[in-house]
Amino acid sequence: ERLLSNELEQSEQVAEYSLRPKELRSYIGQEKLKQKINVYIQAAKQRSESLDHVLLYGPPGLGKTTLATIIANELGVAIKTTTGPAIERPGDLVALLNELEPGDVLFIDEIHRMQKSIEEILYSAMEDYYIDIIVGQDATAHPVRFPLPPFTLIGATTKAGMLSAPLRARFGIVERMDYYTKEELAQIVTRSAQVFETQISPTGALEIASRSRGTPRVANRLLKRVRDFAEVARKPEIDLETVRYALTMLHVDEKGLDETDHKVLHTMIELYGGGPVGLNTLAANLGEETETLADMIEPYLMQIGFIKRTARGRMVTQKAYEYLGIPFTQN
Ligand code: ADP
Repeated sequence: ERLLSNELEQSEQVAEYSLRPKELRSYIGQEKLKQKINVYIQAAKQRSESLDHVLLYGPPGLGKTTLATIIANELGVAIKTTTGPAIERPGDLVALLNELEPGDVLFIDEIHRMQKSIEEILYSAMEDYYIDIIVGQDATAHPVRFPLPPFTLIGATTKAGMLSAPLRARFGIVERMDYYTKEELAQIVTRSAQVFETQISPTGALEIASRSRGTPRVANRLLKRVRDFAEVARKPEIDLETVRYALTMLHVDEKGLDETDHKVLHTMIELYGGGPVGLNTLAANLGEETETLADMIEPYLMQIGFIKRTARGRMVTQKAYEYLGIPFTQN
């Protein structure tokens, strides 16, 4: 398991839950999005209507699940949570919809991975709050209409492009989540340290923040590891020195790159003169799956401007050469 992966690991679920802020005002960053969501929530409450369906998209670990929970909490309604792949049969979805009280939130994570046949049930549920269920078999098969209470579907996806047009069109509110700034991540780290009842210095928090790849999940994970080092060293607080020491031991560099990232950049430079090189070729050389490279490794290197995508393949940028201290020469 990669320390810097922004995916949620099984072992982290309990800790993540306790670290989640419960109110909009303790949700750090995403200022514009928060302002808009707040208006929509207030308006829905004033009209005593359910909130429009919300689609949140963006990379893993940026706070989509957290925000969905907060929305339900601010609306004063219950939330039912599931994931696209967990809904295996139409009956699973019907059971979930059937449990909803008026105004409740149904949260579907990884909504792009939902089966088409299940997605189609959602259309009428989202639009007009009913579902048609086929009852009987063969000659006697006929649809029976079940009314549903008004509810809010919140969908989360890392791949908005993979959502079908009809599903996407049924979300009244579609919002993209952005990576967090270093200052925002430092606030998140400081808040999490309070939850853990651990002291952290402002410079220590900033140092974790700058190595967290813009991602709260990564920031919280690094904090936990650094806390271990601080405790073993019997430090009364996590200071800058401890953060630097711990993250050096864990092979997380100043920009939040780990050995895998370095290997990718060095392979591109040493074997391909910095590129262009195709993703498949590169993956084969690294012994990684192309998908892993595309989904888990490359996005951050692109985000910080170390790799760029060209028509002929990926290239290492001058900025990356400078960071690695390698003279820039390129095809
Ligand atoms: P996603 O659903 O996008 O993968 P999560 O909502 O599970 O992300 O967030 C991952 C972790 O990061 C959560 O445990 C939460 O504590 C923390 N987190 C995310 N966004 C924020 C935020 N804006 N403020 C504070 N903590 C956050």
